[in-house]
Amino acid sequence: MSLAARLAKLEAKHQQVLRCICCRYSLSDGFLESEIPHPESSNSVLQTKCWYCGTRFGVPLEGLNDPQREAVSLIYNSHPSRQFIDERVHAAHIWLRFSDSEVKKYEDSKVAPADGDARQKNYTRYGIMRRPLTLTEEKAKREQEERKQRAFEFHQCQTKRFKRLANGPESFPLDETLKQIQFADPSSRYYYDQIDEVILNHGFDKDSEVTRRAGSALDTCNYHLNNLKQREACELVLWDAALPQTLEEISFFEQENQRVINEALHAKQCEEEEKRIESERMKAEEQERIRINQEKQADAERIEREKEEQRRLCPVY
Ligand SMILES: [Zn+2]
Repeated sequence: MSLAARLAKLEAKHQQVLRCICCRYSLSDGFLESEIPHPESSNSVLQTKCWYCGTRFGVPLEGLNDPQREAVSLIYNSHPSRQFIDERVHAAHIWLRFSDSEVKKYEDSKVAPADGDARQKNYTRYGIMRRPLTLTEEKAKREQEERKQRAFEFHQCQTKRFKRLANGPESFPLDETLKQIQFADPSSRYYYDQIDEVILNHGFDKDSEVTRRAGSALDTCNYHLNNLKQREACELVLWDAALPQTLEEISFFEQENQRVINEALHAKQCEEEEKRIESERMKAEEQERIRINQEKQADAERIEREKEEQRRLCPVY
């Protein structure tokens, strides 16, 4: 446990308010790093201080790309009231939620089945089964949960106070743009209608398996596209232009949508071809049956005619 985490724990135990509730929770949870500056790792940690109590701490930056670092830095280096009067700070908060690669999430979801979560619950990341917590550990866990809740409530309360003090606009133009994008959310009826329209425009049978599969795949792609459009809208506020990676990912999902439609069209053609072959086979079988029947009938008529001829030539019979 780091010095900061130990100190936070001691503070919590002795109720000494040297730090705010948020810092006591964040530092004891290891979410933020200690206040000791990291001169050798200035690239991996953002040094900043708490706006509530002045505690210095480091925000880990490892694994973040340059725009993510810039957004994190903009948020942590701006006074909490700035998010209510500066649209860029407001956009940075929202953008970070959408900043991870949607293509990666999409690709990962294809290889990792969703039911893995439940199975993983009792296992560590290395597949070793977790042992049950001891009573002391249970208690520590419960106390940490309580600290988390108190920190959350404190943060909410302070945010409201800063909002009141900032006296900024009710909303920014970005919020309106995001609302319009969210209107096309996959969970809304409107969105399904759009997918239905795409499918029906290509002449798909609404209840077929091909349509169901294509609809589901389009739905997934459009969910990611929706996130990317929101990311793009934030980037226009933050950097006056969409980032190349965002445009690439939008293009990826647009192509993916087209691929899904092409695949479904191909599956539909194959289905129709199979139906045509089956129908022709049945038609040929029917014709063969009619031909055999006609032959049988002709044979019977011929035999009957021959018998009649015999009776005519030999009346004794
Ligand atoms: Zn603090």
